[in-house]
Amino acid sequence: MSATTPSAPPHATRGDCLAADAADPLRGFRDRFLLPDGVVYLDGNSLGALPAGAEERAREVVAEEWGRGLIRSWNTAGWFDLPGRLGDKLASLLGGNPGEAVVTDTTSLNLFKALAAAIRIQQRDRPGRRVIVSERDNFPTDVYIAEGIADFLNSVAEETGTRYEVRLVDASLSLRDALAPGDAAVVSLSHVNYRTGSMWDMDAVTAQAHDAGALMVWDLAHSAGAVPVDLNGADADFAVGCTYKYLNGGPGSPAFIWVHARHQDRFWQPLAGWWSHAAPFAMAESYRPAGDIRRFLCGTQPVTSLALVETGLDITLEADQAALRAKSLALTDLFVRLVEQRCAAHPLELVTPREHARRGSHVSFRHPEGYAVMSALIARGVIGDYREPEVLRFGVTPLYTGYADVWDAVEALRDILDSRAWDAPEHRERNAVT
Ligand SMILES: *Cc1c(COP(=O)(O)O)cnc(C)c1O
Repeated sequence: MSATTPSAPPHATRGDCLAADAADPLRGFRDRFLLPDGVVYLDGNSLGALPAGAEERAREVVAEEWGRGLIRSWNTAGWFDLPGRLGDKLASLLGGNPGEAVVTDTTSLNLFKALAAAIRIQQRDRPGRRVIVSERDNFPTDVYIAEGIADFLNSVAEETGTRYEVRLVDASLSLRDALAPGDAAVVSLSHVNYRTGSMWDMDAVTAQAHDAGALMVWDLAHSAGAVPVDLNGADADFAVGCTYKYLNGGPGSPAFIWVHARHQDRFWQPLAGWWSHAAPFAMAESYRPAGDIRRFLCGTQPVTSLALVETGLDITLEADQAALRAKSLALTDLFVRLVEQRCAAHPLELVTPREHARRGSHVSFRHPEGYAVMSALIARGVIGDYREPEVLRFGVTPLYTGYADVWDAVEALRDILDSRAWDAPEHRERNAVT
C-alpha cells in the first residue's frame, strides 16, 4: 500500500464489526442485560434494558420484604434509607459527594424543587433577580416547570407588581445575551439535548452562569450513565435526572436530585412534605426542615420501583466510565459514517454534532418521513424512536450496544429507504407514545 492510498476505514464490513465486538473490553456487560432475540435496541436513552438481576430483586422486594416483612421492612429491609443510600451511589457516579443526592420523585418534580430552591436562595443573596434562563430546545417538561413556577410566583405577588419570567435561549438569543442584563436568578439547562444529542460544556457554562450572578441547575436525564459528569468539578449548584434511561432502573423508576452541600440548609423547598422534616416520625405540629439532603424528599417513597433502581445502577458503577465514553463515541461515530456511506441517496440530515466534546450518546437524523421510517424500523426489530419534528433518534448504551448492532441497524435503515417499505398506511398511524 503506498502512502497516498487511503486505508480502508475501520468496521467497513459486518465482519469487522463482529471482530470489534469480540475485542470490546466492555463486552461482558451485555450478558448482564436481558434483551429479546431478534431486537436491536437503540432506545436505552428513553427506557433502559432489563438488568439480569432485576426480576429476582423484584421478587425479593415483593414476596419477602413486603409479603413477609410487612411494615417492619421500613426498618429491617432498609426501605426508609433507600433514597439517600441510592443517592450516595448515584452521586459517586456524577462527581458528587455522599450526602449530596437522593433518588426520589420524578425529574419534573425535582426540577420544581431545584428551581424553587435556587430562586429562594437568590431572593436572599441577590434580591430583584426574577429571570429563569432556559432554552427553547429544552425537553418540554423543563420549560413547562419553569413557566409554572414563574406563573405561581406572579399570581402570589400580583399586588406588589413583581414579575418573574422565563427567558429562553435559542437561535436568536445566545446564553451570553440572555445573561447580559444581570437579572437572571438561575440558569436551567439539559446537559445533553434529548433530540439532537448535542452537549453543553458543563464547566464553561456553569462558570458563565456564576459570573453573571446566577445559580446553575443541570438536567442530566440524557447524561447520567452515558457521559462522564463531574458536578463538583464544575461547581454546579443543583442537578436532576432520570434513572429509567441510561441507568436501567425500570419504567418510571424514581429520579434523582443533587444539591451542592453549600445550599442544602439555606431554604425550604416548597414541596415540604413530612419526609423532608428533620424528624418525620416525631409527627411535630410545626415544620422543621431536615438539615441535610433529606430536605429534598416530599412524601412516602414508591419502594418497589425505587429498590429496582439499585440493580441497574450497580452494573453501571462496575464499569470504567472512561471506557464507556470511548465506546459510546466509537459507536456513534460508526453510526454516522455508515449512514453517510450506505444511505447517501436518501434525504437524511445529521442533526447531532460531529465534534466529540459536543456529543452525548445518541445520534439523530432528520428525514421528511421520519415517523414512518422509524415505524418501519421498529417493525423489523430495530428499536429507536421518533421525536418531533421529523427526527429519527438512535441511542447507544455502551454497556449493551455492540458494533454489529449498529451495522444491522444501518442495514435495516438502508433497506427500508431503498425499498420504500416505510410508505405503507400502517407506518403512518401515530401511537400515543413515540
Ligand atoms: C426524559 C426527560 C425528562 C423526563 O421527566 P419525567 O419527570 O421523568 O417525565 C425530563 N427532562 C429531560 C431532559 C429528559 O430527557
